[in-house]
Amino acid sequence: MAYLLVGVSMREFRIAVLPGDGIGGEVMAPCLTLLESVASRSDEFRLRFETHEAGAQLYRRTGVALPDAALRAAEAADAVLLGAMGLPDVRYPDGTEIAPQLDLRERFGLYAGVRPIRVLPGAPTPLADPRAQRIDAVLVRESTEGLFAARTMTRREGEAAVFDTMRISRDTCERLFAFAFTLARRRRRAGRPGRVTCVDKANVLPAMAFFRQLFLESASRHPDIQADCAYVDAVGLRLVRAPWEFDVLVTENMFGDILSDVGAALMGGMGMAPSADIGDGHAVFQPCHGTAPDIAGRGVANPTAMFLSAAMMLDWLGDRHAVQGCHRAAAAIVGAVEAAYADGSLVTVENGGTADTAAVTARVMRGLERHMASPELPA
Ligand code: ATP
Repeated sequence: MAYLLVGVSMREFRIAVLPGDGIGGEVMAPCLTLLESVASRSDEFRLRFETHEAGAQLYRRTGVALPDAALRAAEAADAVLLGAMGLPDVRYPDGTEIAPQLDLRERFGLYAGVRPIRVLPGAPTPLADPRAQRIDAVLVRESTEGLFAARTMTRREGEAAVFDTMRISRDTCERLFAFAFTLARRRRRAGRPGRVTCVDKANVLPAMAFFRQLFLESASRHPDIQADCAYVDAVGLRLVRAPWEFDVLVTENMFGDILSDVGAALMGGMGMAPSADIGDGHAVFQPCHGTAPDIAGRGVANPTAMFLSAAMMLDWLGDRHAVQGCHRAAAAIVGAVEAAYADGSLVTVENGGTADTAAVTARVMRGLERHMASPELPA
């Protein structure tokens, strides 16, 4: 019989795992292997996974997208790891897609949708300008209200018109902006400029003018961090023309949804873009991408975004519970991913190459072995 000697300081984190639909499960499986690998080498923490079915397939079969057991597990867990959910042909009677990930954000108050926009050295970016290699921004997308609040605040005039309402509240915005300024301060310690850009449409929409007013109020409480404001259309242009100029961007839900896909394109595709949805008590970590029905079942999904989302989860757990080993494990994953792409030879199917899910995973796992074995690197 084998015994695991667990020291008194060893933490065990419960992770609710929701692989979801389409490629969600395909990127989740290697991610759990990767996480097992880093956790098993730490003498500070372990991860206990509890997997639950949720999403469009389940809804098609049972009429329920997010069962109570999954919701309770997510609520009780230390963190939630989510693959992707929703399928274009599975919809609620009003025509919208099944999206339990949105329900989780609203239910747990996950107002800060953190979407890093960083080009990994060696990874492809569509911009030819060499400065594209310096792209290192973070988009903070408010994720509980904004125009997405229309999910529950829509008004119909029969077949003549539908009105969707944007909700911008002081309470959520104050927490959102405080989060963005704190993030900018933290990034400045790592050499970034320390600037937050408010992305809005304050020239047209009163709710957006309120958003900007609340941002400027918050900026006055964080005088050590630069603050500026820009209209969302102009930011769209600047994200294509000179994205390396941005540090932290903060915006409402719908604008953030759109801009984060632009960010993913800059990083080399949806398969490269991680995200975290963070609230005061809970957090969900998932890649930016959806279920990609066009490639599902073929084993070609790029798992990189899922891996990097898992690293964000470890960093968040490390901060929340003061466990340095989590930060070391996160750094090991990021280091392994960077090493995998560094020489430019790893070209994913998404980018016209041949590296499928298994090939990307194998490369990252090899990098992890080297990373962990190297004494000067975090183990
Ligand atoms: P959602 O509406 O759920 O956010 P979406 O409409 O943004 O989803 P995705 O499912 O993210 O759509 O897919 C957009 C495109 O990116 C598709 O062509 C898909 O194949 C591709 N894609 C998404 N994720 C990956 C991945 N991990 N690896 C490779 N290609 C991907």
